Amino acid sequence: MKYISLLGSTGSIGTQTLEVIKNNSDDYKVCGITGCSNIDLLEKQVLQFRPRIVAVSNTKYYRELKKRVGAITEVVAGAEGLAQVATMDESDIVMSSIVGIAGLIPTFKAIEKGKTIGLANKETLVTAGRLVMDAAKKSNSNILPVDSEHSAIFQCIAGNNIKSLSKIILTASGGPFRNKSHKELENVSIEETLNHPNWSMGRKISVDSATLMNKGLEVIEAKWLFDVNPDKIEVCVHPQSVIHSMVEFDDGAVIAQLGIADMKIPIQYSLTYPERKPSFTPKLNLFEIGTLTFEKPNTELFRCLSLAFHVLKEESSHPVVLNASNEIAVDLFLQNKISFMAISELIEDTLQSHISQKVNSIDDIIEIDAWARRKSMQLFDERCGNL
Ligand code: NAD
Ligand code: MG
Repeated sequence: MKYISLLGSTGSIGTQTLEVIKNNSDDYKVCGITGCSNIDLLEKQVLQFRPRIVAVSNTKYYRELKKRVGAITEVVAGAEGLAQVATMDESDIVMSSIVGIAGLIPTFKAIEKGKTIGLANKETLVTAGRLVMDAAKKSNSNILPVDSEHSAIFQCIAGNNIKSLSKIILTASGGPFRNKSHKELENVSIEETLNHPNWSMGRKISVDSATLMNKGLEVIEAKWLFDVNPDKIEVCVHPQSVIHSMVEFDDGAVIAQLGIADMKIPIQYSLTYPERKPSFTPKLNLFEIGTLTFEKPNTELFRCLSLAFHVLKEESSHPVVLNASNEIAVDLFLQNKISFMAISELIEDTLQSHISQKVNSIDDIIEIDAWARRKSMQLFDERCGNL
C-alpha cells in the first residue's frame, strides 16, 4: 500500500488524483488532503477517502470544517496545516497540485523531507527551480513530473543518455485562440478564454493556456527538471494534443509520447512509477484522429511565450516576477478588470521595472513575489481603464 498526501485535493488535478486512487484502492490510499476554501468538497472527500489529516489553508473556514468532520479526522489550517500534510511521516508520495506560488512552500518542505513528489504545480520550479533541484538532490527526493508534457519527456528520455539529448520539443495545443488575429484577440471574453479545445483544467491554467504563458512556464519547468540549456527547448504547436512532447537525440532520432488528452494518465504514472497499471481512460485511436499537424507558435501575438524565454536567460529573480505578475494579471482578467491583450502588457511592464536580484532562499522568493504583485497592482491602478 502506498500513502499519498494530496495538496490541492479540491482542484482539477486534485479531484482527478482522487479518481485514480479510487480506481486503484487496493494499492493506494490518501493520508492527507488540503483545500483552500471549498469546505463542502473537502467534507465530501473526507467522508469518502478517510484521510488522517485534512488542512484548509484559509483559516476562516477552520471552525466550520472542524465542526463537520472533526470527529473522524484531524483538522488543521493555514500555512502550518499545509506543511503538516506535506510532511506527514506515513506519506510515500506528495502530490503537489495547488495552483500558483501558494504551492511552493509546502512542496519545498516535502522535498526537504526527502519525499517523492508528483509535481503538477509548475510555479514551484518556475520561481525556485535552482533551490528546489538543489534541495531535492540533498534530500534524495525524487521529483516525478505530472504536467503532461514533462511526463512525456520523462518517458521519452528513459533508458537514454541525457548527454546525447539535442532538443526537447514541447508541444502546445495553441489554446482556444490559435487562429485569431490581433484585432479579434482584443475583444475575447472570459468565457471564450476558459473554453480550452482539448483539456478541462482549473481557471488559472486555462487562461495561461490561452495566452501561451502556460507554455512559457513549462519551458522554464523543463529547463530545471531535465537540466537543459534553454536554447535546446523548442515549442511546437500541435493542435490535436495527441503527442504530449518529444525529444531529439544527437543521432537525429526523435522519440515522442502519445496518448489521449486526459491528465489521469500522467497522474497515474507519477503514482505507479516505475510500474504501469491498467487505467480506465479510453485508449488512443489513431484511425479516428487521422492527421497530426504542427505549426510554429506566433510569439509576436502571444507575447507571454517570448517573455518566458526572455526571463529564462536572465535567471535570478526575473522568473519570480514573471510568475507573480502573471498571477495578478490573470486574476484581474478573470475579474473583468483588464482585457485579454493587457495580460502580457502588464507582465512586460512589471518586468521592465524590475532590477535583477540574487535569489538565495525561499524567503528571497517570497519577498520578490510580493514586490512584483505590488508593482503590477500599482501599474494597473495608474493605467486603470487603459489596459
Ligand atoms: P485548480 O484551480 O483547479 O485547483 C487548485 C487547488 O489549489 C485547489 O485545491 C485549491 O483549493 C488550491 N489552492 C488555491 N489557492 C490556494 C492557496 N492560496 N493556498 C492553498 N491552496 C490553494 O488548479 P488545477 O488546474 O488543478 O492546477 C493545479 C496545478 O497543476 C497548477 O500549478 C497547474 O499549472 C498544474 N497543472 C494543471 C493541469 C490541469 O489539467 N488542470 C495540467 C498540468 C499542470
Ligand atoms: Mg502542460
